[in-house]
Amino acid sequence: MDLRISGKVAVVGGASRGIGLAIAKGLVDEGAKVVIAARGEEALLAAQRDIQAAGGEVLSVVCDLSDDGSVTNLMAQAFEHFGKVDIVVSNASALSIGPDRADWDACLAVDLLGAVRLVEAAVPKMRDQKSGSILFVSSGSGVEATPGADFAYTSVKATLIAYAKKLAVVEAANGIRVNAILPGSTEFPGGVWDMMRQHNPAFYEMARASIPFGRLGVPEEVADAAVWLVSERAAWVTGVALSVDGGQAKAIR
Ligand code: NAP
Repeated sequence: MDLRISGKVAVVGGASRGIGLAIAKGLVDEGAKVVIAARGEEALLAAQRDIQAAGGEVLSVVCDLSDDGSVTNLMAQAFEHFGKVDIVVSNASALSIGPDRADWDACLAVDLLGAVRLVEAAVPKMRDQKSGSILFVSSGSGVEATPGADFAYTSVKATLIAYAKKLAVVEAANGIRVNAILPGSTEFPGGVWDMMRQHNPAFYEMARASIPFGRLGVPEEVADAAVWLVSERAAWVTGVALSVDGGQAKAIR
């Protein structure tokens, strides 16, 4: 299937590793040009080299999605370098899964307001273009409550789904689609589940056992669905919350 994504410009917020990097690479594989953003410059430059080595056109911008000015600069650089932005992916998370007020502050600042900042910086120009595709990386935690104390993370990931739905309804008239993707437990070297496997094997095993396929997902499996969802081949899909989790979420909805 030709996803009709060739030549599109995508900004991926939180793209130096894991799911965000896999989405950026997936987009490049389909012929898109990407702007990758994260706070840590070293990993970001390594990701840029990785994408360039595969023949991709990529701009990397050091950016903290919890900061207004940093996101304004990111989007300005994207427009200056590539002349347009067709796709925005808000992937970064504080991954702050504790019960404390600091966890609320971090989840609100990065997971939720990071998405708001990206939207505010991109949507006015997308409206002018009369087209655009926005994707929020939420989580299975946004639709199912576990007995853990990750009150802020779960609440903010659920809010991202609501935000996507609202924006989808409001912006459809302007040719802009907005969706959310809900990864299940997803493992990669250096990622949160790699850490769990090493330091909290009982918790890792609980997650593994909750997935009907009997294993955790990998970033590329999430990215494949994400790339389709932002592509023109998903032109009639907006306001959805797509689980990509090997059946981990069990609710019928
Ligand atoms: P990760 O390994 O923590 O990678 C996150 C990326 O975002 C990194 O490139 C990180 O680079 C960047 N980032 C973090 N904070 C940022 C900030 N304030 N501003 C800009 N960039 C920032 O995360 P992941 O496991 O790949 O997860 C990606 C997304 O999927 C997250 O939204 C997460 O909640 C969601 N998700 C993950 C899983 C899973 O099992 N992994 C499951 C469900 C949902 P820097 O640290 O250098 O900034």
